Amino acid sequence: MRMRACAVCENGGRAARALAYAKVGRHLVECVNCGFTYVPVAPGAAAQTHAARDGRLLLGDRLLNWLDRATCWRRFMFSPLEPYEILNKLGPDSGNVVDVGCHRDNLRLISRRFSIYGLEAFPAFSVRTRTEATQSGATVLSTTAAEGLSRFPDRSLAGVVLHSHLERDPDARSVVELLGQKLRFDGLAVLKLANYGSLNRRFMGKRWYKFNFPEYLNYFRKRDISALASHFGLEASFPFMLSLPTDDNFIAILKPTIPIEIY
Ligand SMILES: [Zn+2]
Repeated sequence: MRMRACAVCENGGRAARALAYAKVGRHLVECVNCGFTYVPVAPGAAAQTHAARDGRLLLGDRLLNWLDRATCWRRFMFSPLEPYEILNKLGPDSGNVVDVGCHRDNLRLISRRFSIYGLEAFPAFSVRTRTEATQSGATVLSTTAAEGLSRFPDRSLAGVVLHSHLERDPDARSVVELLGQKLRFDGLAVLKLANYGSLNRRFMGKRWYKFNFPEYLNYFRKRDISALASHFGLEASFPFMLSLPTDDNFIAILKPTIPIEIY
């Protein structure tokens, strides 16, 4: 069985420490080198053996689930701006923009001042995506993120939007490497990520609702995405109100570090 290495530091999967969250039917490990948390088995193999949960919830579980639902305002209160809006506000005046995964409505809502490309690797979504692309004039490529990004010339992208994508991508490291190569020096990538460092995750423990998504493979904290970005010549920043520890998601903005010889 092929074990995935850590996406952040490439430390081998077998050296990673298994976490108690395996109790929720997920096999999760923490990299012993950098602390990144991920699913160590490549998808398509044992990753699909998602153990069914016992239907009966303990009283403690019920109470925590109720509390989680009762305080769900946390998820909306601090995230007024979506990634496409940040791109529209902070992006360059024109150029090619890629929406990885064709997240709901993005193709329609990304500013028309850009030439918009959507990468869509899941055929199940393609009808909606095609409709949105027709409305917006976007070009949709049926491909994975890494394959799609690699088709663009280096330093040719004004922006890339990855809305809840990097958590699901088995090739997350290559995707960030490609962002480092393909973004223009005045371009930016805007990522929305599940906040593994959130207070709610610590409080809810194995009951954190993001553990219920069987397709999640990578659980980033801000420091993980910073380290990965920095390795590939990108600087990560986190808008304060969009990356609070009380939020279950956070926004990361990645920009190429301009080489010293350009000054
Ligand atoms: Zn690591």
